[in-house]
Amino acid sequence: MLGVAFFLVSVVVASLADHDPINKHGVNEIEKKMSREVEDEFSGTANQDELEVLKRQYSSSHAVNQTLISIPTELDVNWNKTNLFEGDIDLTPEQWKVALDIDPVTRSRRQALYSAMEMWQPMGGAIIPYTFERGFPAQYHQVVRDALAFWEQRTCIKFRLVNQYDYDAIVFNHNADGCSSAVGRIGGGQYINLEAPGCMSVTIIAHELSHAFGTLHVQSRVDRDTYVQIDTSNIVPGTEHNFAREPNSFSTYGLPYEFGSMQHYFSFAFAIDPKKPTIYARPNYQRFQGSMDGPRATFWDTVLINKMYKCTDKCLKQMGCWAGGVTDGADCYKCFCPIGYTGTNCEKRPDDAQIMNVSDTPQSVKMELKGAFRAFEEKLVVLQAPAGKRIEATLRTFGPTIRAVNVHCRNAFRMCRGIGLEILPLTDTRTSGIHFCATPNPLTPIYSEANTTLLYLYRDINYPVAVDVTVRSF
Ligand SMILES: [Zn+2]
Repeated sequence: MLGVAFFLVSVVVASLADHDPINKHGVNEIEKKMSREVEDEFSGTANQDELEVLKRQYSSSHAVNQTLISIPTELDVNWNKTNLFEGDIDLTPEQWKVALDIDPVTRSRRQALYSAMEMWQPMGGAIIPYTFERGFPAQYHQVVRDALAFWEQRTCIKFRLVNQYDYDAIVFNHNADGCSSAVGRIGGGQYINLEAPGCMSVTIIAHELSHAFGTLHVQSRVDRDTYVQIDTSNIVPGTEHNFAREPNSFSTYGLPYEFGSMQHYFSFAFAIDPKKPTIYARPNYQRFQGSMDGPRATFWDTVLINKMYKCTDKCLKQMGCWAGGVTDGADCYKCFCPIGYTGTNCEKRPDDAQIMNVSDTPQSVKMELKGAFRAFEEKLVVLQAPAGKRIEATLRTFGPTIRAVNVHCRNAFRMCRGIGLEILPLTDTRTSGIHFCATPNPLTPIYSEANTTLLYLYRDINYPVAVDVTVRSF
């Protein structure tokens, strides 16, 4: 593996697997069964033919002599850990049992998992006590609190420090290898494991919190075969079970499949060859190949939690919102807006967004984030063409500084989670857009649906970033 490696294992699970009712041998047997399911799912001739095409296209369009920079994700190197479900989820013995080892004909795996999963209470305003494991480094308390605040600002879930009367609580644990969480509320103290410093980012902690609320991963959804192909030949043997598909739509809440979700695996998850994906976007969705595992909870990631926790059911009325916004889970009297919109009813552009008029003459848009400290930084440009026109946007260079953007950039990121440019060409910005975190090769113009396009530059790692995008209307 390249770069920084973060091994994922859980203290909780390591000891748990030795216990009844499900022992390590049982877990291994179940995992083997799931692995066979995954192999069977993608072994058909039609699948293999399509996969060969996708692989060829990928290697020709990513034939870069660039140094790949790894950004740690909770999944980065957990391939030899057999006790985590879907890579970074600690199941209780009961959850393992019902999740994996049941008759597929009579009951579905995910349904069983969800009926065994408890959520935090009360619905409509869950309160989650939390604390830090003894010795949790003081310098990381703030990043954890930032992640808690992140969810508090967009859902009805609230956190408070644990007191002597609490039975259930989340315990942030630094004494761990990698990052992992239980799914849902499991009763008593439950760890969110955060190895320092790799797991100490708002993005990763927010992802693990989402599991603690009760979410699984997007690419396991029952409808995933419409969107992705899995190259089982590049999966580290023995880890195929992490790609098992859930048998029904019990937990999708009717929300769309989203590559840029923060709960989607990145495309190289569990790869033998770290430069080749294990997950390919299918032909209709290839523009999203680099978008898997987005930088932050997306609009739909947030709506999912608000639906699960019935956050707006208590509101006297649902707000009327522009741009596809919905009543805010944290505040009944305002809308929660998709990217590019703000205001009580999503009626305006964010104050800090730069609005740019685009004409038929090509012009260069340069954006930069200096990246001097470890905190999330973002910049939004709203491109606006005259009514009736569309916009062509082409990312020309992605580099560490504005000065470097016109020379060949030697660095490419393996995934766009920690740093990247998201181009949103659709009028409906509820679903996340197309992510870039390297200079594309070949250059690929993105065409807007109507007369607007958003350019969203972000970074969550201590690395400067600058982009140069050529835009024009037509
Ligand atoms: Zn996860």
